Amino acid sequence: MLTKTPDETWSQFLEFIEERCSAAEFENWFAPIRVLETLSDEIRLEVPNIFVREYILDNYKKDLCAFFPLKSPGEPAVAFVVAEPKKKANPVPIERAAPSEELPANDLKLNHYYTFANFIEGPANQFVKSAAMGVASRPGKSYNPLFIHGGVGLGKTHLLHAIGHYIHEHHKKLRVHCITTEAFINDLVDNLRNKSIDRMKRFYRSLDVLLVDDIQFLQNRLNFEEEFCNTFESLINQNKQIIITSDKPPGQLKLSERLIGRMEWGLVAHIGVPDLETRVAILQHKAELKGFRIPQSVAFFIAEHIFNNVRQLEGALNRLSAYCRLMGLDVTEEVVSTSLSELLQQTPQKKISVETILKSVATIFGVRVSDLKSTSRSKDVAFPRQVAMYLAKELINESLMRLSSSFGGKTHSTLLHAWKKISGQVEKDETLRRQIDMAKRNLEA
Ligand code: ADP
Ligand code: MG
Repeated sequence: MLTKTPDETWSQFLEFIEERCSAAEFENWFAPIRVLETLSDEIRLEVPNIFVREYILDNYKKDLCAFFPLKSPGEPAVAFVVAEPKKKANPVPIERAAPSEELPANDLKLNHYYTFANFIEGPANQFVKSAAMGVASRPGKSYNPLFIHGGVGLGKTHLLHAIGHYIHEHHKKLRVHCITTEAFINDLVDNLRNKSIDRMKRFYRSLDVLLVDDIQFLQNRLNFEEEFCNTFESLINQNKQIIITSDKPPGQLKLSERLIGRMEWGLVAHIGVPDLETRVAILQHKAELKGFRIPQSVAFFIAEHIFNNVRQLEGALNRLSAYCRLMGLDVTEEVVSTSLSELLQQTPQKKISVETILKSVATIFGVRVSDLKSTSRSKDVAFPRQVAMYLAKELINESLMRLSSSFGGKTHSTLLHAWKKISGQVEKDETLRRQIDMAKRNLEA
């Protein structure tokens, strides 16, 4: 091994690993790693997020020790550097080992298509996908519970099932159960009626992983909420993994403070609307799976017109492919316009830019745009600037990095801080809410 450079050792290590794990596992965890630097006594690797580092150290530390020199006993001379968030969508290559045939028919009732490999990553969902993968690789040991929230059709159920598939495949001994909140309530009603509630409790409390979809349906169901909360606590106390999805963050759900508190214990992760490039990548990925080819320009055309719901994007694709097959037509923008006319009626999002937001906010707060862009920390200027940052994050479909650069060299953490502060304040402060509404209306005018 001494004659090899760290680079060569790393390549050898990858070959070794590739033979020992599934294609999906390799694609998810190892393919994204980059060699940053090879020093005489250490190799520095760039990992896309902290979950990848934890996963590798958890599962392959011994192997790393066998391949690389040791820094100290049991510590391989490998340093992991977490990459800066990516700015652009990173289309995932089509998964060759189609999971649907490989997964045994299970009673988990998971959608076969909803795997990590089929989930296209972009700036708006990168963090939540990493968190989901982190939890799937170490159930009960990283973030518990994991709470995923976001709007309709943005992939919450997809990620929930992906976690289920992954655990089912990689932690075969664990008892996993995936349920919608409605089904949980129905289950409870049936078992109460049949006087078999104890059996139901035993079943839920013996699980290792509980996946709960659409917790918002527990709102205003007081009797059921209590039983859910008991199940939840019993599992969490035993370090059993819980993953919950919701259309709102915990604090905005009309549920008891006790349950909200519990749900905020672990990691709360938001799934946002994918940006244009990601939407195009999703369309192309889904088209490819259907064996349907769409030119890139047409994919852009569709993604520009359907922008806030991935499910609608998929519906458009299904309709388009059926139309073209039935009519024997090639896919062109003209065909798209005819076949999808109702779906495309939504006009493209009005172009809102940081510049227009700054103008609008400046008017409302009676300051100058140049002040907002300046480095002045005076409260009269700093506060409206934070409001502008909040609006930019809410209304512009761009990564934080890109947005923050439009605010005259602010860092993305400044922007995030501003967003958090104003989001919290807007809930309590009626005047601020009205000012923000006015600024928004100004933008639309
Ligand atoms: P939600 O539960 O948030 O309402 P779903 O998980 O049901 O949304 O997703 C709706 C559809 O959009 C599904 O077919 C899902 O596969 C698809 N989808 C959403 N986000 C992505 C993504 N990032 N990559 C691929 N498909 C996605
Ligand atoms: Mg859903």
